Amino acid sequence: MAAPRAEVVIDLDNLRHNVSFLAGLAPRAATMVVVKADGYGHGAVEVARAAVEAGASWLGSCSLAEALALRDAGIKVPVLAWLDPPGTDYAPGVAADVDLSVSSVRQLDEVAAAARVAGRQARVHLKIDTGLSRNGCPPDRWAALVEHAAATPEVRVHAVWSHLACADEPGHPATDAQAERFDDACREAVAAGLAPLRHLANSAALLTRPDLHFDLVRPGIAVYGLNPVPQPFDLRPVMTFRSCVALTKRIAAGESVSYGLTWTAKSESTLALVPVGYADGVPRSLSNRMHVWLAGRRRPVVGRVCMDQVVVDCGDDDVAEGDEVVLFGTGASGEPTAREWADTTGTIDYEIVTGMYRPRVTRTYR
Ligand SMILES: *Cc1c(COP(=O)(O)O)cnc(C)c1O
Repeated sequence: MAAPRAEVVIDLDNLRHNVSFLAGLAPRAATMVVVKADGYGHGAVEVARAAVEAGASWLGSCSLAEALALRDAGIKVPVLAWLDPPGTDYAPGVAADVDLSVSSVRQLDEVAAAARVAGRQARVHLKIDTGLSRNGCPPDRWAALVEHAAATPEVRVHAVWSHLACADEPGHPATDAQAERFDDACREAVAAGLAPLRHLANSAALLTRPDLHFDLVRPGIAVYGLNPVPQPFDLRPVMTFRSCVALTKRIAAGESVSYGLTWTAKSESTLALVPVGYADGVPRSLSNRMHVWLAGRRRPVVGRVCMDQVVVDCGDDDVAEGDEVVLFGTGASGEPTAREWADTTGTIDYEIVTGMYRPRVTRTYR
């Protein structure tokens, strides 16, 4: 079998471990595993199936199309879809039993119209903006929204929910302020005659704020084994990005490497060419600032990251064409991690793994 050119390997055992670990931390809440953006780059359908096996009873997606793709794959657990543009046809969602998030009277009316078309009641989650100032109904319009929802027979309000801005900084005062506004919003919904479930916690709040678990927790990143908070937890990274050595060569001292010749060998050295580049998810800004795991140790990538290739300095060590190269993995044997790439490039590991969803990168499951 040919060595892989650019491959992400998804370890579903690690994913199942993470889901049951997280569900165990929130024993009184149901667990909604968030699989938006193709499961943060891991494959939404495969992740969803493994998550349900491991104890998830809900799935969360961003768009309705993502939710319907889960239904098309035969996945039957409740799914919540939370953000689509005006004019979206929600009728297929209502017909497929997808729960829909609503942040305004206009959205509620669109969902009610879809429910009439589908010939059945729509199940909605009313979203209150408690301070993130992104999606969600602002508090000054909340009373009107809950009253309108209570008076609309085509919809049934299943939950009231919100999203936190700073849960990944435990102790940040904004979290308590948001929780207070959330309580107010839930009280108003009850006063309007609704009996909603409540949900607020993302991964970070699931891990650090048991008082905010409510009826349902919504972990995303932690399911994929990446820890959004400073305290350690038993989370196991799910994605490994690997390639191979396509070519080796010796170069003389004084020879330079890759576009711009930004790295020069101080002594004669063996170079390994690895056939992945920024078109495969290796940020060009990691040029001369990254390592790979190759032949039993970390080795530096030298010179610029190109579209299709990077070059690794192997000194006088024996490396062979076809050897496996791990770009990032769990870190368990010392290989780089997605977190390391994120820290070096000034982003978060969410962006690194989500960015691995590319046509040229194959994905396999283990
Ligand atoms: C993405 C998302 C989550 C999951 O967040 P993580 O930080 O990945 O746990 C939860 N809720 C909403 C509304 C989201 O958009």
